[in-house]
Amino acid sequence: MPPSPDAPAIKPSRPPRARRTDPPERRFPIIWRRLSQAYPDAKCALNFSNPHEMLFATILSAQCTDAMVNKVTAKLFVKYPNLEDYASADPLELQQDVKPTGFFRQKAKNLQATARVLLEEYGGRVPSTMAELVTLPGAARKTANIVLGNSFGKVEGIAVDTHVRRLSQRLGLTTNEDPVKIEQDLMALVPKNRWFRLSYLFIEHGRAICKAPTPKCGECVLSGICPSSQVR
Ligand code: SF4
Repeated sequence: MPPSPDAPAIKPSRPPRARRTDPPERRFPIIWRRLSQAYPDAKCALNFSNPHEMLFATILSAQCTDAMVNKVTAKLFVKYPNLEDYASADPLELQQDVKPTGFFRQKAKNLQATARVLLEEYGGRVPSTMAELVTLPGAARKTANIVLGNSFGKVEGIAVDTHVRRLSQRLGLTTNEDPVKIEQDLMALVPKNRWFRLSYLFIEHGRAICKAPTPKCGECVLSGICPSSQVR
């Protein structure tokens, strides 16, 4: 029976606001929307022009800022344009060339070893699968995810760097410490078509607001739904 014209109109009820104590599944869509609005241009900040430059820049970015890596690679990629140049480089000279990125002995060793593996086993090409990339010297899942997404448009996981790890923990999306387990938690929570972009949204927010060691919670768009917010 149709409602009487005299009956009071029933207002559509608004969904209740998300709270800090809500489970990640409830809060994540809001986190995604707010960070997407805050950082519409979030993307990889490393400079590269081919897959091996992408791979080498990512190897150099461990424990180093992207700005410093870009400064170093601006000269490195000119001095060593091909994989053969790294493979035959003088090890001490290569160390000096990457020194400002830190851990330079190990990084130079990894670049040279990776160049040799790419030449000897992959015909001078960077492989485009996770299984192959993680076998390269100096490359683990984080590096592989970054290279796959940026050089091949392929997404097999979520790159968990120091910013992604810190934000995932502070936002209560994981209780794990190990980056591989954090990646698994995020993959279970986040739709696959958002995996690639998620890393860059978290990295931007980690650099700008959710800094280590002191987050700027008073300026954070996620403060109302973040269990670690210092604003109450
Ligand atoms: S509220 Fe604070 S701890 Fe939470 S994401 Fe924002 S800056 Fe980080």
